[in-house]
Parts: sequence; C-alpha cells; structure tokens
Amino acid sequence: MKEARFYIASEDGVQCLLCPHHCRIKEGGRGICRSRECHDGKLSALSYGKPCALAIDPVEKKPLNQFMPGTFCLSLSCTGCNLSCRWCQNSSISQASPEETESTILSPAEVVDLCLNKGLPSIAYTYTEPFTWWEYMYDIAVLAHDKGIKNILVSAGYVEADPLRDMLPYIDAANIDIKAMDDSFYRKYCGASLEPVLENILSMKNAGVHLELTNLLVTGLNDSDEQIGRLCRWMVDNCLQEVPLHFSRFFPMYRWKESEPTPKKTLLRAKETALNSGIKNVYLGNI
Ligand code: SF4
Ligand code: SF4
Repeated sequence: MKEARFYIASEDGVQCLLCPHHCRIKEGGRGICRSRECHDGKLSALSYGKPCALAIDPVEKKPLNQFMPGTFCLSLSCTGCNLSCRWCQNSSISQASPEETESTILSPAEVVDLCLNKGLPSIAYTYTEPFTWWEYMYDIAVLAHDKGIKNILVSAGYVEADPLRDMLPYIDAANIDIKAMDDSFYRKYCGASLEPVLENILSMKNAGVHLELTNLLVTGLNDSDEQIGRLCRWMVDNCLQEVPLHFSRFFPMYRWKESEPTPKKTLLRAKETALNSGIKNVYLGNI
C-alpha cells in the first residue's frame, strides 16, 4: 500500500492535510474522499496505481479550447473526490470507494509508456478529483514531463496550498470547475467551500499554468445574472479576463433531478454577460 503524503499523526490515528477538509481519521477509517485510509498509524493512498477509467479524448473535451487544440490526450482517473456535488455526472467513480469500482493495475511508468506508444502528447488527470490521488498523479506527472508529455489537470481546485505548490511545476494546463461565486452554494450542494478554490486558481495563474475555467449553470440555483456577473467581476478584478471561461449545460442526474436542463437562452445570456464584463473568450459546453 502506498503511503500518502501531507498528513500528521494524531491521538487516535492521523489527520490528512491534503485538502481543506483536514479529515481526522481513526485507525481503519477513511477520509471524506473515501480513498485515503489510516493503516498502522500511517495514511495510505488507496487508489495509487489503480486507475478506474482510461480513455483517449480530444483535448477540447476537458474542456481546454486554447491548449494544443486539435490534439488528443490520455484521460486517466482513479476513484475518489473530496466534493459531493449532487449532480455529479461521474458519481459511480467519484462517490465510491476504490474497492467498489473496477480498476486496472498500472504503474506510473506504464501510464507514460502507454501515452508514448499511442503517440499522445498529453495526459489529463480527470473525471474524479485528481488531488485525492495526489501521489499517483504526481509520480506520473514527473515521469511524463521527463519524456516531454504535457500534464493536464481537470479539477475542482479544492486542495491545500502545499500539495498544490509541489504539483504545479509539473502541470502545463488546468481546467478548474468553479461551482458558483457563492460559499453557501458550495457548502449546501457540493460539500466544500469557495475561498480555497479562488486562492488556488490565482496560484495556478501566477505559476504560469495555462488556465481555463468552467461554470456549470444549474437551473434556478446559480444561473442568475447576479451570480454570473459576480464570477466575471472577480475574474476581471484579478486580471483573469484573458482566461477562457466555459459555461456548461446542466442535465438532471444523480441526486439532483429537481432542476430542468439549462435552457439555451440562459447559456446565451451568460455568454453575453461575460463578454460585456470584459471576459475575452467565452465558450458554451454540453450543448
Ligand atoms: S484528501 Fe480526502 S482524506 Fe484528505 S482531507 Fe481531503 S477529503 Fe479528507
Ligand atoms: S467535484 Fe466533480 S467529480 Fe467531484 S463530485 Fe463534484 S462534479 Fe463530481
């Protein structure tokens, strides 16, 4: 079993410091993400080397519209997420324990070889929350960089500063899913909080990562002019107006069937609001 990084011993187990949840985990127990377990007083990264999803995707599907357009990437995922979005479209792998999903055994070197053999220029860490399998992503990313393969992070950005700082030198591009410019929305519907996400987006930008942002518009919850305007103002105030912004269409699924699919006119209105706010590149997704 792979020992995790970013934890400290506590009275009756460990405390994980990988993400702002700071889970206190007793012997034999797991954190909120279900993929980190306390074992003999140590924290283990349970999904290390066991990807549960592998695919070849156009890079635009991540979505990244301005990073190596027209190329394909190896998309890789392990079980686990530290958020619990009620409409998660990948809930069967994000809201599950590693032993509940089918996985294959693949060392970091084998992942990189697979990418080279397929002639793919990049690897995307995606579908679930890659930071919850930080150790595996890091070991692959270091080897990949060595071979000239680009690393793409697709994440909700809910991670502590130290693990983010250590990962950033190996990340070439990132799409961060910003759920809403509303902390109560994060807490009520996603089981997380807004502030660390905003700080991490700025850290990524400052580190020179090619950054794009996604905002899923859930009908009646975060699709008001006021909410969209707040996101755009924050971007402009923080010199992110050149960062591509993707508004994505919601479809009812998992534990949220109450809202209608996002009407096309809502997406068009969001795009207009963003352009009027000064955001230079706005895209609509899932339509
Ligand atoms: S990464 Fe997982 S175990 Fe660690 S603090 Fe976050 S949710 Fe808890
Ligand atoms: S952050 Fe992404 S993978 Fe995790 S629950 Fe939310 S939508 Fe699903």
